[in-house]
Amino acid sequence: MQMGEEIVSGKAKSIFRTDDPELFVLHFRDDTSAFDGERVEQLADKGKVNNIFNAYIMEKLAAAGIPTHFVRRLSDTDSLVKKLDMIPVECVVRNYAAGSLCKRYGIDEGIKITPPTFEFFLKNDELHDPMINDSHIISFGWAEPEHIEAMKTLTIKVNSILKQLFLDSNMLLVDYKLEFGLSNGELTLGDEFSPDGCRIWDKTTRNKMDKDRFRQKLGNVIETYKEVAQRLGIDLN
Ligand code: ADP
Ligand code: UDP
Repeated sequence: MQMGEEIVSGKAKSIFRTDDPELFVLHFRDDTSAFDGERVEQLADKGKVNNIFNAYIMEKLAAAGIPTHFVRRLSDTDSLVKKLDMIPVECVVRNYAAGSLCKRYGIDEGIKITPPTFEFFLKNDELHDPMINDSHIISFGWAEPEHIEAMKTLTIKVNSILKQLFLDSNMLLVDYKLEFGLSNGELTLGDEFSPDGCRIWDKTTRNKMDKDRFRQKLGNVIETYKEVAQRLGIDLN
């Protein structure tokens, strides 16, 4: 697989063309950002841990029938993915209250959310990813109505698969963000699933095991990501 020019350099990952116009290389860097890119630091090993973690989760999701962009892992920090036309919205499901939901509605952190909530946000750092609804997505042409429904269905299906996966290793999947795109008209899960884009708590102690360790300067960020991986049985070597 020949790696071509870099066409996207995001806050944490880069995308490179390949000799196949339908395939990209997704390169996971050590850059770690918070607050819409306001704070950026390098955390040794993060690219490798997230790439391997993401490969494991994407394979689990594909096995459970979720269409994903993941093709195969190429190296410690690179994966081959299908090229997607990304939909500029973030899909968030929450099982426990945390983060922006607590601030927005004055809800105490840690309350169990039944049934889990589903939210759309516009992917736009300059605007600080404002919350949007179906009506905005349709009226502003960010996605077709049938893709809105499919994003909801797939994101909630992912919850039933991953909630149990984490629970089996004594962890709570608190919330997570997914991004979708279109591949030959088919709605497909893109981007990544790693501790950077979700919240994971130890079930017993409720110790934070995700990017909140970086946001809240709790320390041991990558050591804790590695512990999550180890509990799930992911081989990081
Ligand atoms: P951010 O966009 O938040 O700065 P990243 O550093 O993760 O974050 O950037 C990766 C970029 O690649 C994002 O814009 C994401 O939407 C995009 N992307 C992820 N998967 C694909 C794909 N399969 N095809 C095209 N673009 C993708
Ligand atoms: N999230 C993300 N990228 C974003 C915004 C949110 O990965 O640009 C994830 C975040 O890690 C958490 C979930 O989506 O797992 C919900 O985030 P929230 O709305 O609480 O926002 P935050 O507290 O991160 O500002």
